[in-house]
Amino acid sequence: MTYTQELKKMIQKRDPNETEFIQATSEVLDSISLALDDHPEYIESGVLDRMIEPERQIIFRVPWVDDQGAVQVNRGYRVEFNSALGPYKGGLRFHSSVNLGIIKFLGFEQIFKNALTGLPMGGGKGGSDFDPHGKSDSEVMRFCQSFMSELYRHIGQFKDVPAGDIGVGKREIGFLFGQYKRLANEYSGVLTGKDLSYGGSLLRTQATGYGLLYFTKAMTDDHGLNLKDKLCVISGSGNVAIYAAYKAKELGLKVIAMSDSDGYIYDKEGIDIDLVQTIKEVKRARIKTYINDRPKAEYHKGSKGIWQIKCDVALPCATQNEMDLLDAKTLVQNGVQVVAEGANMPLSREASDYLVQNKILYGPAKAANAGGVAVSGLEMSQNSLRLKWSVEEVDERLKKIMNDIYREASLTAAKYGQKDNLIVGANIAGFLRVAEAMYLQGVV
Ligand code: NDP
Repeated sequence: MTYTQELKKMIQKRDPNETEFIQATSEVLDSISLALDDHPEYIESGVLDRMIEPERQIIFRVPWVDDQGAVQVNRGYRVEFNSALGPYKGGLRFHSSVNLGIIKFLGFEQIFKNALTGLPMGGGKGGSDFDPHGKSDSEVMRFCQSFMSELYRHIGQFKDVPAGDIGVGKREIGFLFGQYKRLANEYSGVLTGKDLSYGGSLLRTQATGYGLLYFTKAMTDDHGLNLKDKLCVISGSGNVAIYAAYKAKELGLKVIAMSDSDGYIYDKEGIDIDLVQTIKEVKRARIKTYINDRPKAEYHKGSKGIWQIKCDVALPCATQNEMDLLDAKTLVQNGVQVVAEGANMPLSREASDYLVQNKILYGPAKAANAGGVAVSGLEMSQNSLRLKWSVEEVDERLKKIMNDIYREASLTAAKYGQKDNLIVGANIAGFLRVAEAMYLQGVV
């Protein structure tokens, strides 16, 4: 058994119920096994053994009182995975499906993604099984304040800097920041994704979606494929999906379908993105109400059906494992040319392997959706400098970071004999950066 196979076995033995964590570590370990021959020092110093175990995992009770006066109790998590390159950095997810295995998979992926941006950020992730759907603003505020009442003692601008993720947007970040400031008696860039009025960065809201399209364009340009008039399907209708849709449209693609966790809309004339944004962000309503204003569009129950729609470019931007092997086969049969991941690990391992085998241009999440954390890193820089950069300045840096990530992943894949396999390229490139820093810092 090889060294990486032994590590995979150990993870399965240690955390048998953490299926998403097993899936994420297994993919990375398979990729980096190709690079280990060049680096016996990483094996000898146990870099990998240490990398797969979080530096610290915090699990805590989050009690709060709902609008009826009843006490509710949720579970909070923060997994501080790796600080070799900088303070732990990664979002908070509020969703009923959250458990330790999901937070660990997200935190693990974040290490390599953050490394790929070239910015000084370690990897971490957190969240709660709290579901903000249907809660009043006051309930969300009380929950966020209780969550931060425990979290504040573990985070700090030089320690751990959380941000948003599923279920955590500007509203939640505002409540979390207010409570941190009150408890720590300190005004610092301890969270990113803040509103512009109190230290947020221009373009942070748009960054993941825009970055996904910048990455996609770098990848398609490199292969001589023009995106103009290509049909595009985007799953989800949250922060990532909406700004991916706006940038896709700007680049000349035609977005014809989007979804939420109940179902999807298909509008062959092109999705009215402003309308989707109003429904999801302003009204906090369901995507099915889209057809009230656009009667020629169709609504279908069940979000997975979206992958049946014929398209050239598919951008999964909702959640993990939303596309399985069957969906990938359907997309390929329907002539898909490009799949790029806005969400984290949206494809099952079988689905991503199938796309790579079938030579589909495929942008894996660690590389393709790194724009969000990249601009979070730029938000941290601006907070430290007490400066605010213009939209043009942030956009320019974001574009450069996404182009550099594409180039690095592509060159690394080719170097290890896996041309165009950006899964391998991104995993090895991110790994080498973190591994070298861990090696030089000794056994800690
Ligand atoms: P949001 O909460 O803003 O939106 C999530 C979207 O996905 C909603 O449309 C939601 O539908 C849908 N969704 C959630 N769960 C499911 C499910 N089980 N099945 C189908 N649809 C689902 O989150 P974000 O847009 O911020 O995050 C989306 C993805 O992008 C996540 O994987 C996240 O980790 C990743 N990501 C986010 C970054 C960011 O900057 N925000 C950065 C990098 C990655 P509904 O409204 O019904 O809940």
